[in-house]
Amino acid sequence: MSIVYLNGSYLPMAEAKISPMDRGFLFGDGIYEVVPSYGGEMVGFLPHIDRMNNGMADIGIKLGWSHDQWKSVCDTLIEKNGTGNLGLYLHVSRGADTKRFHACPEDIEPTVFAFTYDIPPAPVADKSKVMGYKVAIDHDLRWKRCHIKSTALLGNVLHFQHGYEQGTNETLLYNDKNELTEASACNAYIVKDGVVITPPLDNQILAGITRHILLDLLRKEGSIPVEERVVTMEEVFDADEVWVTSSSKEVVPVIEVDGKPINHGKIGDVWLAAQTIYSAGKLNY
Ligand code: PLP
Repeated sequence: MSIVYLNGSYLPMAEAKISPMDRGFLFGDGIYEVVPSYGGEMVGFLPHIDRMNNGMADIGIKLGWSHDQWKSVCDTLIEKNGTGNLGLYLHVSRGADTKRFHACPEDIEPTVFAFTYDIPPAPVADKSKVMGYKVAIDHDLRWKRCHIKSTALLGNVLHFQHGYEQGTNETLLYNDKNELTEASACNAYIVKDGVVITPPLDNQILAGITRHILLDLLRKEGSIPVEERVVTMEEVFDADEVWVTSSSKEVVPVIEVDGKPINHGKIGDVWLAAQTIYSAGKLNY
């Protein structure tokens, strides 16, 4: 059984218990991260912890852990759970209160929970070895603070479920202006005439760490132009390629959107080049 971290102790998952009065349980009042680790090497550890600290600051959870404290928990969990391909799930809720009351109590200790789960091997940049996603579309009905990686994921869950029930792998989301925001658990991109285009960072999307690493690597490598700008859903359907990214999946080519083939249902050459660049550079973050 996997060993988890809970409030200072390492213990088997079945022995990890939290109070039902935990505000994470009652209100979804918490912040989380997922850091991928391949053969014991984490991808993007520092930006993941920075994002979690930003999220805690945004919602007023005062934990005050150093990067080294998080590193020690992550390294210990990797050591205890094997150095395969792991997702490290890190979770800080505001803590357990004595009553159910919306206002945030000042005097409770945050609950810190972390566990690992198996993720697929890192994708390889090879068209014959990757599965192109088919995705649904849905009107983005989440809240206006999507930049916060909150544990309150019901909006995302319902959007993912919408696509899942149609037999698709993900759901692309669009706002009231018919502009692409992101996907239910990924950032989203189009490729048009060789340019990689992705919606800009704002309160409608999560600042994905994979997005950050990918855009940074592409800009440094220089052969594929990148634009961060508004993308309409017309542009999505008219795109040469569509991709989604997330930490445990890296860059995923999309071959069908809402039943309509993209690039004649074939994985594109720009994806191949981008995933090659990502695979080569990701461990530098
Ligand atoms: N957008 C949403 C809504 C997500 O839930 C995720 C990942 O969980 C992402 C984007 C991608 O973020 P990252 O690349 O940091 O995994």
